[in-house]
Amino acid sequence: MSRTPIVVGNWKLNLTLNEGLSLVTELSNQLAAVRSVDVGVAPVAVSLNAIAKKLEGTCILVAGQDCFYEDRGAWTGAVAPSLLRDAGARMCIVGHSERRQHFGDTNESVGKKAAAALEAQLSVILCVGETEAQRDADETFEVVGAQLDGGLAALASDQLDRVVIAYEPVWAIGTGRTATPEQAQEVHAYIRGRLAEQHGADRAEAIRIQYGGSVKPANAAELLSQPDIDGALVGGASLKAESFSAIVAAAAESVG
Ligand code: PEP
Repeated sequence: MSRTPIVVGNWKLNLTLNEGLSLVTELSNQLAAVRSVDVGVAPVAVSLNAIAKKLEGTCILVAGQDCFYEDRGAWTGAVAPSLLRDAGARMCIVGHSERRQHFGDTNESVGKKAAAALEAQLSVILCVGETEAQRDADETFEVVGAQLDGGLAALASDQLDRVVIAYEPVWAIGTGRTATPEQAQEVHAYIRGRLAEQHGADRAEAIRIQYGGSVKPANAAELLSQPDIDGALVGGASLKAESFSAIVAAAAESVG
């Protein structure tokens, strides 16, 4: 089965509004001819609406970096998925390891966020990944399996066509250490196998699984050549047009 690669830039807590607008102006010029890759950027929430407006009419989608699972009410500081959608987002990342580590996200709350985002007509990027200690203790599959099950717990199988999984080993995020293509492929294949057991082989074959963790122009092609790696979730290298565009180009080449 051929899956359209998806490359998304997670800007995290970086870039002023003007810096973000300049970056997407460059990206929309550099990526104007790209048709074979789905491309997105995830700006800070306060810039999302202006970035989305700037990208109207281009092929670059806008994603939220996180959302809450309630839609309205006394939840100071929270951002509802429906408000992200209203501001111009079409996707939302949930379960990023930085949210799990610093903001108390659990497999259960991530599952509620995923369900709420889909309910608000956003596609979902569900992040999973083990820490270095968990890998060293041979717990990678157990941890990733539990994150996957929790993240998808509230979803029906037919909602999976609007879900992308991002495998992001925590030890590779922002560290400059990338999983080898073989290490990444092994976990991607495990994820696809688990999805097949729970949702059937056809749905598992159709779902896209991104790799994230220090993806750069220099390592993107090799990672993306693996059979179960269908794109990249990119942090640091998404903050410069040249490096992000080069990763998108590598994804385009991976499908010929
Ligand atoms: C990320 O934050 O999702 C990420 C993969 O970051 P980096 O590319 O900087 O490792």
